[in-house]
Amino acid sequence: LVPVITVDGPSGAGKGTVCARIAAELGWHLLDSGALYRITGLAADRRGIKLDDESSVAQVAAGLDVRFQPTPDGVLTILEGDDVTTTIRTEEVGSLASQVAALPAVREALLQRQRDFRSSPGVVADGRDMGTVVFIDAPVKVFLTASAEERGRRRHKQLTEKGISASLPALIEDIQARDERDSNRAVAPLKPAQDALLIDSTSMTIDEVCDQIMTLVRT
Ligand code: C5P
Repeated sequence: LVPVITVDGPSGAGKGTVCARIAAELGWHLLDSGALYRITGLAADRRGIKLDDESSVAQVAAGLDVRFQPTPDGVLTILEGDDVTTTIRTEEVGSLASQVAALPAVREALLQRQRDFRSSPGVVADGRDMGTVVFIDAPVKVFLTASAEERGRRRHKQLTEKGISASLPALIEDIQARDERDSNRAVAPLKPAQDALLIDSTSMTIDEVCDQIMTLVRT
């Protein structure tokens, strides 16, 4: 069976960076499951579909025409021929994603697509339910968290570096609201798998987090 490392946790905990590094280090595939929810939200919105119209949004999810195209500068996300790499990273699309992610039929529609990423030599899966739903049998599971304040500070720094001004208290509030929604929803609520290693990255560097996961992989 092809090995999987699942990394679940709230947004801003550092999952994206950590997963990309570990996948590169091992030469494994990377599944950014959040991108699939973001793309679904964006595609549904572009078609004028109401995000509470569960069966229509699920149809969009099932029929997504999306490609992840590797380039020397990173992976491009192509939706119906259109480069949406930067668009899907906006707060607006993040909010669309978390709305469609609350619909059971949408999660069901994306399940097989996510499992198809499991191919040789291995996959590093970044998300909210990788260890609890999508890859229950994964041999290595991590739940990565950090305090809401620290996650807000990281997000603030990222935005400032891009020249986007944002209020830190408002960002922290957004993060808390999203956490609340993701942890309390009826389907696939955000919680650590029973067999996951908990890592709190609040006062850790990315390198320290990666080292800890690599140690787990090697044992
Ligand atoms: O990780 P990212 O911020 O890109 O995810 C966007 C949203 O998609 C999350 O806030 C969450 O609601 C949803 N999501 C999910 N399950 C996943 C990945 C993301 O519900 N495995």
